[in-house]
Amino acid sequence: MRLWKSRSSDSGRPKREEGDLVSRLKKDIQRMRNQGEPPEKDPGHFSGFLCDLCNSPFAYHELRQCILCGRWACQSCWTQEYYVCNSCNGMITLHTLLSKSTK
Ligand SMILES: [Zn+2]
Ligand SMILES: [Zn+2]
Repeated sequence: MRLWKSRSSDSGRPKREEGDLVSRLKKDIQRMRNQGEPPEKDPGHFSGFLCDLCNSPFAYHELRQCILCGRWACQSCWTQEYYVCNSCNGMITLHTLLSKSTK
């Protein structure tokens, strides 16, 4: 995975680019829920929960909580590669592009 592109001119610093990007993302991404907070209940279904992105009802086991914003996402709103929701995946892509363009 080549998500964490480092600036090679930065000598002397330990290679902590991964942490840098994650903490930058955490500053940019507004946390919608705390980790461990359950998804929104679907008022129309007793055992249903709502995907925070598309607002469709799903069973609890079909939803995953995003590590960055804390939103619950269904499979089609989920980016398995980075274990985040599609919304945060967009932010990751943006940051990756930015760090590529600033040499
Ligand atoms: Zn969804
Ligand atoms: Zn997210």
